[in-house]
Amino acid sequence: MMVMVTAGTMALAVAMAVVRPDRREGIGLWALALVAHAVTYLLFMTHGWAPNWISMVLANTLLAVAFALLLAAVSQFHGRTPQRLSVLLPIALTAVLLVIFQGHDQMRRLVISFLLAVQIGLILWALWRPEPPRQRRGALLISAALGIEGVLLLGRGIWYAVHDGPPRIITSNGLGQSLTFLTSFIVVQLATLGFILMTKDRAEAVNHELANYDMLTGIANRRLLQQTLRRDAERAMREHAPYAVMMADIDHFKAVNDTHGHLAGDAVLRHIAHLLQARVRGQDMVGRWGGEEFLVLLPATTLEGARHLAEAVRAGVCDAPGHYDGIPLPVTISIGICADILQPGDRPRLLVDAADKALYAAKQGGRNRVEHAPLTRPHELRGARPAPVRS
Ligand code: GH3
Ligand code: MG
Ligand code: MG
Repeated sequence: MMVMVTAGTMALAVAMAVVRPDRREGIGLWALALVAHAVTYLLFMTHGWAPNWISMVLANTLLAVAFALLLAAVSQFHGRTPQRLSVLLPIALTAVLLVIFQGHDQMRRLVISFLLAVQIGLILWALWRPEPPRQRRGALLISAALGIEGVLLLGRGIWYAVHDGPPRIITSNGLGQSLTFLTSFIVVQLATLGFILMTKDRAEAVNHELANYDMLTGIANRRLLQQTLRRDAERAMREHAPYAVMMADIDHFKAVNDTHGHLAGDAVLRHIAHLLQARVRGQDMVGRWGGEEFLVLLPATTLEGARHLAEAVRAGVCDAPGHYDGIPLPVTISIGICADILQPGDRPRLLVDAADKALYAAKQGGRNRVEHAPLTRPHELRGARPAPVRS
């Protein structure tokens, strides 16, 4: 059983070291913890023929190191440095108490059980505090696995506090001992799986964020806007509901960059994104369409409603200038809107094209204003084209 635990844990550590996605994710520390765990069992195996300080003192101290490394790994995953005291104190205490209680098996087992249970408590605390991790399923798996181990250790500690020797089942046929190792092995496997799941879930969330959101402003990027527009438009068409889009562009934005620098320009972009986001409803979507152009998707919105919102946003931008380095950076925005009830066969992109056209009109009309343009269907465009002149 010990050979199995050692080899299995070591293999897991190697696998983790090979696949680790990022050093700061805690995977490296977790793999190190597994190595310490495996070596611990290797040292346990020397019991009987190696000196006591190897098979007991060193082995159990190494087990405390393994749990301390798990704590460090969890903290690193959350981007925190663990408190030195919570990492080092249990290791030091374990080593000292093991030396003190070398001749007292009872006390040694009791103390080790409680100390390990405390270490597990610290790991779970670091996992869920100050706020629960977003990667719930991985965290729950770790908690279930370590929780079982913690309860078993507490039970063991309490047993030795009350009884003189180990339970008869352990001494009589070794079954208890085997079960202890098997449980420990399964706990390590499950907790490790949970930790890998956490890193995987986070990597997926990061990928999703990168693929769908604008890094600078945090709002939807063009890809997500297009995807949402297609989905929303289909529904609006089915329900014969009006749909509106709003295209906003910062006026003379180049001058902000030229005068105050690109970082100031970035601050203005973030500020406008924030103002837009603050104005819209839950079902609306604000996104960055291009450099300093924002697109707002407004399901179930009439032209009247869109115009009302656009005016409020335009006035809001005038009233609340952004800041960079303490310097106010007043800007204005021009807005183009288009709202219509889409007909079967209408491409949703027509709404954006019309809003873009309206935006152009707003710029031409002197900027800091709202304009609207009707949705122009391709056949209407063809129909509007002047007939060729015959000579
Ligand atoms: P207009 O009123 O006609 O819209 O004039 P404008 O100066 O706002 O428009 P123009 O197209 O001439 O300039 C847009 C500027 O936006 C130029 C470009 O450097 C800047 N820009 C685009 N993306 C970013 C960005 O991510 N950060 C910063 N700081 N500037 C950006
Ligand atoms: Mg502009
Ligand atoms: Mg522009």
